[in-house]
Amino acid sequence: VIEIRGIIRNFQLGQETVYVLKGIDLDIARGEYLAIMGPSGSGKSTLMNLLGCLDTPTDGTYNLNGNDVSQMTDNELADIRNREIGFVFQTFNLLPRTTALDNVALPMVYAGSSKKDRIVRAEEVLTDVGLSDRMDHKPNQLSGGQRQRVAVGRALVNKPSIILADEPTGNLDSKTSLEIMQLFDDIHAAGNTVILVTHEEEVAAHAHRVIRLRDGMIESDVRNK
Ligand code: ATP
Ligand code: MG
Repeated sequence: VIEIRGIIRNFQLGQETVYVLKGIDLDIARGEYLAIMGPSGSGKSTLMNLLGCLDTPTDGTYNLNGNDVSQMTDNELADIRNREIGFVFQTFNLLPRTTALDNVALPMVYAGSSKKDRIVRAEEVLTDVGLSDRMDHKPNQLSGGQRQRVAVGRALVNKPSIILADEPTGNLDSKTSLEIMQLFDDIHAAGNTVILVTHEEEVAAHAHRVIRLRDGMIESDVRNK
């Protein structure tokens, strides 16, 4: 489903060019469970933003489910993101004044679904992530683990083919991390492609394949299971 060839990503900071990704080749099959590791600054989030169609490369190609993403306009990117990608962030990124239900339903607003469909689907997803009794709570009325469950629900609501998570357990204690990782295990077992970034070996051990980045290049690519 994912085919990346010769991806380069530079950033221009005034006169200076920052070379972040220096030539990445990567194939990820449908249904894989992949962890991306590597030191701070090695380019993990930059790669995730490209994978998630939040950004386009300076050079190289990215083919996602048969579409060449590297050449897309912003509108085309937004469209493919909404259809194909669910993104979970370290800091949850929920709307603070909005209930769990409405946070989860938000991507369906962009997808043009009816209000009735949105409520039915958001209730279903919140039940799947274990929050059937917290649907009307706002983020500040939820624990960190519950907030991340809402964010995972939001990522799943449009039934994307790929779930991306950038340090999804980075702000959680170890017990809560394990609960969230069990959720990702279930999402993978349901047939989804799951790609996550982590600094923690225990988290990476849930994945079936681990890629390590160093200084903008893939240093190793190992299958665990
Ligand atoms: P961490 O583990 O700390 O999250 P990371 O591997 O996710 O690190 P990135 O966020 O991908 O690292 O950043 C890699 C490098 O690219 C860093 O040196 C960063 O300063 C640089 N960088 C990222 N985004 C930009 C940008 N928009 N403009 C300039 N430099 C950037
Ligand atoms: Mg990062």
